Formats: sequence, C-alpha cells, structure tokens
Amino acid sequence: QAKAAGRGTFKFFSTDMDERILTRRALDADMRRGLDRDEFFLLYQPRYEADTMRLRGVEALVRWRHPQRGLVNPGEFIPLAEETGLIAPLGARVLRMACEKAVTWPDLSVSVNVSPAQFRSADFVKTVSDTLAATGLSPKRLELELTEGVLLEDVERSGRILADLKALGVMLSMDDFGTGYSSLGYLKSFPFDAIKIDQRFIADLQATGDARAIVQAILGLGRALGLSVTAEGVETAEQLALLRQDACEEVQGYLMARPLAAEEIDKMRGEQGSRHSAA
Ligand code: C2E
Ligand code: MG
Ligand code: MG
Ligand code: MG
Repeated sequence: QAKAAGRGTFKFFSTDMDERILTRRALDADMRRGLDRDEFFLLYQPRYEADTMRLRGVEALVRWRHPQRGLVNPGEFIPLAEETGLIAPLGARVLRMACEKAVTWPDLSVSVNVSPAQFRSADFVKTVSDTLAATGLSPKRLELELTEGVLLEDVERSGRILADLKALGVMLSMDDFGTGYSSLGYLKSFPFDAIKIDQRFIADLQATGDARAIVQAILGLGRALGLSVTAEGVETAEQLALLRQDACEEVQGYLMARPLAAEEIDKMRGEQGSRHSAA
C-alpha cells in the first residue's frame, strides 16, 4: 500500500501483486480441477463427552490430496474458495461426504463447517435439505458449525436462513466463540444449540489467570442460555482436568485424538462397542 503513495493507481499493481493474482488464478483453476477429479476428502476429529470420555461425535475437516503438492490443509484454500464462490460446490461436496459417512455411524453426530460465503449462497438451505433427503441422515445428527462472520452482513437475512435450517431439524453451533464481535447479543437472538470455545482460550488455560476466567464465563453463559459447550484444541491433561472441573460438556483436541481417516473412526466405534447403545 505504501508503494502506491504519490503514484498513479496503475503502479499499485506491482510485480508482487501480479504474481499474487496469478497464483490465485492458478490455485482457483487447480481447485476446480481438483473438485472434478475428487481430490478433496474428509478427516474426522472425535468429540468426547467430558465426564465419561464417551465418543459422541466427529467434526468433518476437509483436506486436499493434491497430485503435486501432497496433502493441503484448509487454511490454504478455503479463504480463496470463499472469495471465488467455489466454496458453494466444495461445501456441498463436503456436506454430502460427511452425511454419507454419518449414516454408517448411527451412534455419532457429525459436525460440518460452513463458511460465510457458503451460508449466504442462494441455495444453501436447499442443499442441506436435499443432502439429508438423499443420504437419509437424521437431521438431528447433523451439526452445522458457523462462525460469527455469517452474522456480520444482513443480519435479517442471516436470521431467516438460520430459522430455515432449524426448521429442517439440524443442530447449529457457533464455532470459534469468543474471538468475534457482538457474540452475546447474537447468541440470544439466533437459534443456536451449541457453542465451541475458541482454541486460543484453551491453549492459554491454566488454574489461575484470564483464560480460565473467560472459559468459566463462556461455560456460565452456555448454561444460562441452555447451550451445550464444546472446548476445542485440548492438548494437555491439565487443560482437560480444568475443563471437567468447570463442567464443560464436550471436549475435542489432540490430547484425545487428531483428525482421523474414516476407517479409524470405524475402528474406534468398534472398540467403544456395545457399551453404549445407539441413539
Ligand atoms: P475449526 O472449525 O475451528 O477446526 C478446528 C481446527 O483445529 C482444525 O484444523 C483441527 O485440525 C485443529 N485442531 C483440533 N484439535 C487441535 C488441538 O488440540 N491443537 C491444535 N493446535 N489444533 C487442533 P484444520 O483441519 O486445519 O481446519 C482449520 C479450519 O478450516 C477449521 O477451523 C475450519 O474453520 C476450516 N475448515 C475445515 N474444514 C472445512 C470445511 O469442510 N468447510 C469449511 N467451510 N471450512 C473448513
Ligand atoms: Mg469447526
Ligand atoms: Mg473452531
Ligand atoms: Mg477455526
């Protein structure tokens, strides 16, 4: 930006900028090709009931198996897909794969991340409803994870979409809670079922200190509003112990399990076995 100062607008497009645009174009084309060739797949990270450590559900996390670059994480392509609109077909694919898998895991719920552009795309509610119909997944076993970004623009329209989703019977959760904007007001006025405490608060969690106070406040808020609360990014036994002490309902993180291939979830369910009856 400083480069542009005192010069014509044209100069703003420096060589760096040209390269960035080219790279983005190449990435976009690459993603379209990847979608055609089914290079996107899902890992599933277990979510556990904190009290009993019973496996309750999984969060679907997209990965790209790139023919040259190998395994690519969502942070490297989701933001661009949101800008180009490719997130709608990619998100629809993710939703379809997650629901198909979830049908084979009748005792688990599956959470799927929905980005703001996907949420706002014209036929999102229809996509969800069609996917449920096509896969036969019970709506209450599908949880959509939304970030506060979905609520930023056109609050009225967002409210209608959320109400339409609720009417389908799916669960709605607020992801990365505590990092965004008017969190409290939104929670009260929109039909969320659950919140996920942002992992940066969990990373800083200690017996004393600000992070604990914040986590306790969020847990209190969840109880007051009747929302279930998940702590994500749990990496240490101490964090887990504190969360249990503070009556956090659900935990997710590397301490318990990393994002896993579907087959590993199959195995885990086998091991947990018939101790718990199917829902
Ligand atoms: P998120 O929804 O907040 O997902 C949690 C992220 O934290 C995941 O990263 C997960 O692998 C990571 N994580 C889980 N436990 C731990 C832990 O104990 N420690 C640490 N350091 N990290 C942990 P991932 O898979 O790279 O996904 C990053 C973000 O990309 C997600 O954040 C989500 O916002 C987005 N994303 C992933 N899959 C999808 C998708 O299918 N659609 C959309 N729209 N976004 C997605
Ligand atoms: Mg999430
Ligand atoms: Mg999160
Ligand atoms: Mg996140």
